[in-house]
Amino acid sequence: MPRLAYRCAAGAQPTPENSVSYASETRRRRTFAIISHPDAGKTTLTEKLLLFSGAIQIAGAVKGRKASRHATSDWMEIEKQRGISVASSVMQMSYREHVINLLDTPGHKDFSEDTYRVLTAVDSALMVIDAANGVEAQTRRLIEVCRQRDTPIITFVNKMDREVRAPLDILDEVERELGMSCVPMTWPVGQGKRFGGIINLRTQSMTVFEAGSERRPQDFETIPLSETERLRARFGSEFDEAMESMELAVGASPAWDHAAFLAGKQTPVFFGSGVNNFGVMEVLDALVDLAPPPGPRLSSLLVNKQPVEKTVQPDDEGFSGVVFKVQANMDANHRDRIAFVRVASGRYTPGMKLKVQRTGKELRPTSVVTFMSQRREAVEEAYAGDIIGFTTHGGVQLGDTITDGANLQFTGLPFFAPEMFMTVVLKNPLRTKQLQQGLLQLGEEGAIQVFKPDMGGNMLLGAVGQLQFEVVQHRLATEYDCEVRLEGCPYTSARWISADSPQELREFEAAYPTRMAHDAAGALAYLCTSPYDVRLAQERFPKIHFHPLREHA
Ligand code: GDP
Repeated sequence: MPRLAYRCAAGAQPTPENSVSYASETRRRRTFAIISHPDAGKTTLTEKLLLFSGAIQIAGAVKGRKASRHATSDWMEIEKQRGISVASSVMQMSYREHVINLLDTPGHKDFSEDTYRVLTAVDSALMVIDAANGVEAQTRRLIEVCRQRDTPIITFVNKMDREVRAPLDILDEVERELGMSCVPMTWPVGQGKRFGGIINLRTQSMTVFEAGSERRPQDFETIPLSETERLRARFGSEFDEAMESMELAVGASPAWDHAAFLAGKQTPVFFGSGVNNFGVMEVLDALVDLAPPPGPRLSSLLVNKQPVEKTVQPDDEGFSGVVFKVQANMDANHRDRIAFVRVASGRYTPGMKLKVQRTGKELRPTSVVTFMSQRREAVEEAYAGDIIGFTTHGGVQLGDTITDGANLQFTGLPFFAPEMFMTVVLKNPLRTKQLQQGLLQLGEEGAIQVFKPDMGGNMLLGAVGQLQFEVVQHRLATEYDCEVRLEGCPYTSARWISADSPQELREFEAAYPTRMAHDAAGALAYLCTSPYDVRLAQERFPKIHFHPLREHA
């Protein structure tokens, strides 16, 4: 009999006696992102998680949500045409006395920046893998980001009802790609037409597979592993092979170590078939039992104009949160936008006075919403880990810190140096004002990076993926009535610039006047035409710092 891999049902951690009442609210929250390569089954799994938590009643609702989004928003046509998800979304559900916040991530690589930012707002990730394809390109990129942040990852190997790869192979690949040890929590018996079910290592029982999307988790038959003869008689050689490979897998993997999982060094692995509702409940339970509640977040405080690091605890008294995503409202007639804020500490209640740290101005949202599976609702209260949306007419940017008064700025929201540039040429020069407004807003949303060359001339658009240009061109036309032509330009990348003294910076700017530009947040950048530019400039100005990544400051 294999040794028991799954011993710990952690989740809740002890509360210090004197901690404020927010602690119990914070502890029951789980905020995670769902990541996968397109077509691995992310949407299907999301829907089933919502279904089994009771957040939605009927299957098909998540797809329905996608469809209605298309209907209300023209620019989402692009998404429909290409069958990709441009915008990421947020869904909240409750399950076993826990509040679960699920953040979807766009699968297409051209929107990877958006995804990176979503990953800064979560405490764990659920990785969906197509069992026939293993770890695919887009998953690999996402894993890299999770690893940089030591984000704990739960792995779901999907589509076991198809002809797929051997589970040992998949584990091996996940281990190699993730650089984490896999600890199987469930194990498949057979696959494809001969998929018999999964063995649950914790309960030492087998759940029998039946195809169909109507079945609820409790409807599946469960047989204890101790009834070996019965299982053998029913599943034949598949059962023996599964037991054998499971023993190999368990023997080769370390014992389950919850701390190692939290440190991003071990991943629990589950097998199943999302479309058949199978093996999904185990994942939902793992989110509650294993995934961490919100943890502390790093911020910096300005003390005598100098940044000083400060760790914000989720149950700290004061409200604080960070804007990790800004999205144009779906209604094209209104120019309002939703700033998605991940609550980092304290409690949000309606009517609270909030300020935007960057500007020191009061935030006056027209509405504050929470994202249920299919609808938005006015927020009654929110705690660390929750995602709330502030509808505003402006004044909020990606990376902004919102507080109820404390002077702090969260760090860590990344902007990547663009890898491609285009110049924007307006077809009708009378629309200049609209263009500027459009670009400003799209830049603030992070849909694209907008650079204004210091020496004048056309605005530059910088992107990490080609598709971003198309989305922006489309949105400028439909939302701002600005037909633009995008033309190639000599720049191939950019570096944000800083220096230890203003004098050094001035000298640098004077040496490269035609290469200097400011981005939407007002940060100074140096435009490059070849990979050698930075090296040469660095040699000439050794004290200047060139940054390929800008964190919101
Ligand atoms: P996403 O692009 O990752 O969101 O993937 P979807 O959830 O849209 O799924 C892609 C396709 O795979 C759809 O046709 C699903 O019906 C199908 N699919 C999802 N899960 C399973 C599964 O467990 N078994 C099989 N056979 N197909 C599945």
